Amino acid sequence: MIGKLESKIPPGPLEKKWRNHKNNSRLVSPNNRRKFEIIVVGSGLAGGSAAATLGELGYRVKCFCYQDSPRRAHSIAAQGGINAAKNYQNDGDSVFRLFYDTIKGGDFRSREANVYRLAEVSNLIIDQCTEQGVPFAREYGGLLANRSFGGAQVSRTFYARGQTGQQLLLGAYQALCRQIALGTVKMFPQTEMLDLVLVDGHAKGIVTRNLCTGQINAFAGDAVVLATGGYGNVFFLSTNARGCNVTATYRAYKRGALFGNPCFTQIHPTCIPVTGQHQSKLTLMSESLRNDGRVWVPKQVEDCAKPPDQIADTDRDYYLERKYPSFGNLAPRDIASRAAKEVCDEGRGVGSAGRGVYLDFADAISRLGEDTIRERYGNLFDIYQKITAEDAYKTPMRIYPAVHYTMGGLWVDYNLMSNVPGLHVIGEANFSDHGANRLGASALMQGLADGYFVLPYTLPNYLAGQMGKRPSTDHEEFKRVESEVRARVKKFLDTKGDRTLTSFHRELGLLLWDKCGMARNASGLREALEKIPKLREQFWKSVRVPGEGESYNQSLERAGRIADFLEFAELMCIDALERDESCGGHFREEHQTSDGEAQRDDENFAAVFGWEFQGNGNILRPTLHREPLHFEAVHLSQRSYK
Ligand SMILES: Cc1cc2nc3c(=O)[nH]c(=O)nc-3n(C[C@H](O)[C@H](O)[C@H](O)COP(=O)(O)OP(=O)(O)OC[C@H]3O[C@@H](n4cnc5c(N)ncnc54)[C@H](O)[C@@H]3O)c2cc1C
Repeated sequence: MIGKLESKIPPGPLEKKWRNHKNNSRLVSPNNRRKFEIIVVGSGLAGGSAAATLGELGYRVKCFCYQDSPRRAHSIAAQGGINAAKNYQNDGDSVFRLFYDTIKGGDFRSREANVYRLAEVSNLIIDQCTEQGVPFAREYGGLLANRSFGGAQVSRTFYARGQTGQQLLLGAYQALCRQIALGTVKMFPQTEMLDLVLVDGHAKGIVTRNLCTGQINAFAGDAVVLATGGYGNVFFLSTNARGCNVTATYRAYKRGALFGNPCFTQIHPTCIPVTGQHQSKLTLMSESLRNDGRVWVPKQVEDCAKPPDQIADTDRDYYLERKYPSFGNLAPRDIASRAAKEVCDEGRGVGSAGRGVYLDFADAISRLGEDTIRERYGNLFDIYQKITAEDAYKTPMRIYPAVHYTMGGLWVDYNLMSNVPGLHVIGEANFSDHGANRLGASALMQGLADGYFVLPYTLPNYLAGQMGKRPSTDHEEFKRVESEVRARVKKFLDTKGDRTLTSFHRELGLLLWDKCGMARNASGLREALEKIPKLREQFWKSVRVPGEGESYNQSLERAGRIADFLEFAELMCIDALERDESCGGHFREEHQTSDGEAQRDDENFAAVFGWEFQGNGNILRPTLHREPLHFEAVHLSQRSYK
């Protein structure tokens, strides 16, 4: 049983905490670093940057990913940009303002100290990446260019056309390759972590499956770092890469790591709408498009079936500009998503299923010219055309909200260490910096802050006391976990039922979208909590996993991930039910202001929820641990973008 949650926030004024903490942190001397082996699971922006930096510092790193190359991590999909408080635009930005926007954007459900540190190191990231050769867009005079993202009234988003994630990942990957060539990092692609090994209560290793040969192996380390990304695919349809899953963090949860705020999910307002059962994922149209695109629906239900060019400007409802005049089309994601749902619920949605709104570039094209729009967003318009066969230079895009990002993740303290000593969690996999709603372009910032600039300083606080304590994989705990992993793999193959994996995943996803999606209420959540254990029971009775265990078998990979989603979904609903307030992306219908905005309950819920595993569903309910949130630098207010 876990005692009080220690966030380990350093004392002192907010703007000095990180500096003081670095000054007071423990160190590992250069000639001792090579004696430590660090396991890094994940090689996206968070894991890739951490593995490269730790290797450069002289630690021995083993880095794992399930793709055939770190280059294919989901981070590559990030389109729009990365925030930093450089104030190149001279438009009033500052570290404090980025901090404040992020805290407010997250609806006051994140830690001040972590968020301030994030804003502080944001500027270092841009310098680091520019030095690496990341081709950020530039102004005519040579300075790096910026654009605006939701929830901010300044332009602080650095970008490389619509491929920012890809370019940043190339930077991290080349740094990683340098270490691989130097021998400090050993890369294990196509290797999936299936469990965490604890020795004397400390995270000291992992058990993996080689996805090509099916071989199960154990690896020991002095510390384990999880950088395994988000779990948006629990909803079946999301903008995440198909492989994204919860397995690494969920298995760590089952070994004792607390799961923080699992119900905090981000629904992104600008995605290509669902068109039918043929889709296996959804496609994002970057938030950057809202710099120039105007969002509207017809004022009258009768006009919805008309082609957009036959609807006069006076008959259009530019509802974001109308409702939120200060931020307009750049209202934050949770707010813009709910506003889209609201107009579609009123019957004013467009497209065949009526679940779409227009994102219109006509005004921007007439003001700036088609060439400028093409230069800014050309690849996004191309993606849109390939998927919908429509030319967005001539007719407005149709968009609708979709699951995009997960703010929840494993609970970590200020050192990015979970409650399990030695287990560190970075990037989207941890719960840390975004509260109940992440602002656009802040995930890349957080992943790279964690990997390049935070973990390398905080990891020695743990390692310094661990010299010579790395166990051998002959230790009985490794043998025990390895045999449990083997038994689980066998169980999938032995079930030999007649229902496909996809059918289970789709059913779970629809249920979650319906009951724990953009809007939630107590009775819907209770209904989901009754249905999920039944679906899980059916899964173990009737799932069919073709193929064998000792070869490349993508069905077997998916089976493990879907089985974990089927347990994790329950945890999400328990969390959503327990948090009896609305905040950010967690919109409980029972708690809204008179104009339909999220109504927080700071007295009872200004806290992080950390859940401790006790068993699933009807076996035992997880135990809740609360970490109260204290605000000294900001005043808790009703979030307003009007
Ligand atoms: C379409 C899209 C566009 C986006 N655009 C932006 C944007 O413009 N700006 C922004 O700030 N954010 C954006 N985001 C969010 C951002 O891309 C992600 O939050 C971020 O890239 C996550 O990085 P990460 O390193 O934490 O995880 P990931 O990039 O998801 O990497 C996870 C890594 O973990 C590995 N892994 C996972 N599980 C296991 C396992 N069990 N065993 C072994 N390896 C494992 C994977 O192989 C991978 O290497 C976007 C997201 C999407 C979906």
